[in-house]
Amino acid sequence: MSDASPEKNTALMEKIVSLCKRRGFIFQSAEIYGGLNGCWDYGPLGAELKRNLKEYWWRKNVQEREDILGLDGSILTHQAVLKASGHVGGFSDPMCDCLLSKARLRADQIEPQSGTAYWFTGASHAESGWSVEREYGVLAMAGDDENKARKTARQYYAQFLSDKQISPKTLELIGERTEVVTETTRFNPENGSLLTEARAFNLMFQTRMGASSDDSDESSIAYLRPETAQSIFVQFKNVLDSSRVKLPFGIAQIGKSFRNEINPRNFTFRSREFEQMEIEFFCRPEDGLRLTDEWLERRLTFYEEIGIPREHLHVLDIPDGERAFYSQKTYDIEYEFPFGIQELEGIAYRSDYDLGVHQKGSGKSMEYFDEETKEKLLPHVVEPSAGCDRTVLALICEAYDEETVTDEKGKEEIRTVMHFSPRIAPIKVGIFPLLKNKPELVDKAREIQRLLSPFMNVFYDETAAIGRRYRRQDEVGTPYCVTVDFDTIGENGEELKDTVTLRERDSMKQERIPIAKLREFLLDRIH
Ligand code: ATP
Repeated sequence: MSDASPEKNTALMEKIVSLCKRRGFIFQSAEIYGGLNGCWDYGPLGAELKRNLKEYWWRKNVQEREDILGLDGSILTHQAVLKASGHVGGFSDPMCDCLLSKARLRADQIEPQSGTAYWFTGASHAESGWSVEREYGVLAMAGDDENKARKTARQYYAQFLSDKQISPKTLELIGERTEVVTETTRFNPENGSLLTEARAFNLMFQTRMGASSDDSDESSIAYLRPETAQSIFVQFKNVLDSSRVKLPFGIAQIGKSFRNEINPRNFTFRSREFEQMEIEFFCRPEDGLRLTDEWLERRLTFYEEIGIPREHLHVLDIPDGERAFYSQKTYDIEYEFPFGIQELEGIAYRSDYDLGVHQKGSGKSMEYFDEETKEKLLPHVVEPSAGCDRTVLALICEAYDEETVTDEKGKEEIRTVMHFSPRIAPIKVGIFPLLKNKPELVDKAREIQRLLSPFMNVFYDETAAIGRRYRRQDEVGTPYCVTVDFDTIGENGEELKDTVTLRERDSMKQERIPIAKLREFLLDRIH
C-alpha cells in the first residue's frame, strides 16, 4: 500500500479503474444492463495481459520443469467430489444483513465499534391507530446527535407501514432504552442499524445437469468448481498411471473458479468468477515442510520476474490455530494494493488430507507405490495457489504511474505511464510511419509489422503527431516504439537506410537500430 492518505489511495484506485475501462483492459460484465455484480470482462488489452501472465506461469511451472505436469479439468463438478472435500457441508462464510438498508455483510469482516445502543420495542402512529411490535437497535457513536439514532429507528419501522403516505417523522417510538456497548459487531458501521444474526452462507454455485432434471432429483445436482485443486486430487491416480512420474512431482492447472462471494469488492480483487493458477506438489511426508519453504521462495522470485518487487510483497506465516487443521504450515503472499495489503497467493502444506478424503469418499486407492523401497504410501502435498485476476490487478497497480515530464518546447506535462515488464506488457511494440500520406513510409512500417507480428503482439498507428502516439502507448505500457522516417527509406542517403528509431518507454531514450536486428532485439527483452 502506498504511504499516501486513504483519500489519495481511493483516488488512485479510481484512476486505475477508469484507465482500465478507457483503454480496454477491464470492463464491468453486462455493463449495458446495469452490470453483473462480481463479474468482469477483460477487454482487448486485458486479455493480452492476462494471457501473458498465464503463459509465463505455465512456462515456469510446467514447460521448464520435468517434475510438473499440466491438467485442464472440467468446471462442472460431481457433487461427490465436493462432499468428500468438505465443500458441500463447510465452504461457507458467516453472513448477516442490515435490517435497514438490506446490505449483506461478512460478519467476520465487521470492524468492532463502541458507543451507545438505542433500543426500541416498536413504533406506533397515533392518528391512524397503526402500530408494530419488534425489537430494534441503533448504535450511536460518541458525538452523534441522539436524534439521529431515533431517526434511523423511525426509518426502520416505516418499512412495515402499509399506508406509504404516512411520513416516518410522524411515528412514535416505543420502549426506548439505552445501553453502553464496547467492541460490538452487531451494528452496521455504515448507518448504525442493527444487523441480523450471522448465518452460514455456502459460497458454491449449484446447478442441475441433464434435460430431464427436476428440482426434487437430488442426483442431478452439480457445482461450478470453487477451486481448481479438487480435479487435481481426483485425477491424481490417472496422471500417475499415465505418466509414470516419481515422487516428488506436481500437477498444475490454470482455470476458472466460482464463489458466490457475499461482498464482491475492490474492483476485480474479490470476484464471483475468477481464475486460479494452482499446483499440487506431491511428496513424501518428510519433505513437506522443506518443500513449502522452497515453494515460497520460488513464488516470490516469480513475482519479481513479472515486475512485482519484493518490497511490495509481504509474507504472512499463518500462526498455529489459524491454519486449517490439516495444515502444518501456510504462508500467504500479500501485495500492497492501494486499498490495503491483501492476499495474492496461499502456499499451504496440506499433509495427506486431500488424497485421504478422496480415497475414503470414492473407495479407490490413492496410494503411491515406491518401486525402490517397495513401500506403499499416501503422498503429502504442498499447494501454491495463486489468483490470476488478483495478480493482473497487482500488475496494473504496480505499473501505474504519473510522471512530470518536460516536452521539446520546455513545457511541463503529466505523462501517464504503465511500467509493465516487457515480458507481460499487452503490446510489445508500437510501429509508426512518420507520416501517413507518404506511401514509402507506410509500406515500410507495414513491412515491419508483418515481420514482427508472428512473434509478438504489435500495434500499428499512423494517426496524430509522433509525440501523441508515444503517449498513447505509454498509457498502456508498450515498452518499445519504432518509427519509420525519411532516413529509413533512404531519402537522406544510404548510411541510415533500413534503420528505424527505437524508443524505450521508461527512459524515453531513442536509438537507431537496423530493421534486420529488430526481431532479435525485441525477442531477447520480452521472453
Ligand atoms: P480470501 O481469504 O481472500 O477469500 P482465500 O484464502 O479463500 O482468499 P484460497 O481459497 O486460498 O483463497 O484461493 C487461492 C487464491 O485464489 C487466493 O490467494 C486468491 O488469489 C484467489 N481467489 C480466491 N478467491 C477469490 C475471489 N473471490 N476473487 C479473486 N480471486 C480469488
